[in-house]
Amino acid sequence: MEEKIYAMSQDPIYIGTGGYCIGRVDNTIVKDPITKIPKIPGTSLGGTWRYYMALEIHSYFEDDFKTDRKSREGKKLDGEIFKVCSPEWVKDFDGNRYAAIKCAGQDDMPNDTWKSMETAAVDKKSGHCGHCIVCETFGFSKQDKSQRGMAYFSDLNILLFPVYTRFGTRWITSKSILTSVGIDIDDDLNLNDDEVFESKKGTKEGTINLGWLNFKSKAMSEGTKCKLKELVNKNLSGSTILEENIIIASDDIISQIINSNLETRTSVSIDPLTGAAKERALFTSEAIPRGTVFYGDMRVEEHPLANGPAKEKVLGALKDSKKYFETLGIGGMTTRGFGRLKIFDWGDKDGSK
Ligand SMILES: [Zn+2]
Repeated sequence: MEEKIYAMSQDPIYIGTGGYCIGRVDNTIVKDPITKIPKIPGTSLGGTWRYYMALEIHSYFEDDFKTDRKSREGKKLDGEIFKVCSPEWVKDFDGNRYAAIKCAGQDDMPNDTWKSMETAAVDKKSGHCGHCIVCETFGFSKQDKSQRGMAYFSDLNILLFPVYTRFGTRWITSKSILTSVGIDIDDDLNLNDDEVFESKKGTKEGTINLGWLNFKSKAMSEGTKCKLKELVNKNLSGSTILEENIIIASDDIISQIINSNLETRTSVSIDPLTGAAKERALFTSEAIPRGTVFYGDMRVEEHPLANGPAKEKVLGALKDSKKYFETLGIGGMTTRGFGRLKIFDWGDKDGSK
């Protein structure tokens, strides 16, 4: 079962490569090695989602969730361990009785046996239980039993990138980016590097600036406009993007447009002892700006054993926990106003298909 995921950054997003210093930017972000276009790695997405699913299941526990897992033995999932109002993916999978917040993050106790986790205490040092839907979805590894997760996440790549123009914000994309989400544009594709397709022409002379780069504007075909409209209506419902504000640039130039329009922010490190700015601690970070639209794939596979959670339950758990990306975010510097990400609903909402 594969689902396309669409997401939009609500803050600048910073996912660092960790300690490189290239040119004027001290903190560089993760980029595709071939295209040099920034992205959100699937490992960041999956790791963060694991934590949010653990948070979500935690919110359905009745009061006794803090004690050791042994005390949950023989209790009903629905009403005794979890609240009566819990969704199906919480109360219909028996392994969830062993869940704890420590099912996310690094496993502190990978050398314990799988069975021993059924009675282990839920405390600061506990580790992945290896039984609950969080552990089944994202995988676990105990001393005597390892299992890969049921869910896989591709990288989130940029689909539409916001750029300031003298006509307002426009979102740029390219032919190969659109092809990767299944849209074949039928315009004459021999775009020069200094040309773009525009749906709504801004000026008579037909030029548009994307940041500080200037381009000749060509009219987009009606067929392409239709496909872009469908893309926006179907996958980005509730966003402020209009298809008429989408611009298609050449595949050769898009990386340069994106990289010259990244958000750069200069910050100061504060000395925790004195509360003052550290000397020579001014640093610059680059980030993917707010309003960027991403796409990626999520695959959920059948559990290898009959008593594992059903795929639908896993998808339900993922769907119910994605809201935390909108408040707690992804990546680094979330305490400096970075990282919030809206993940759009996937699948057919209206059931018309
Ligand atoms: Zn678990």
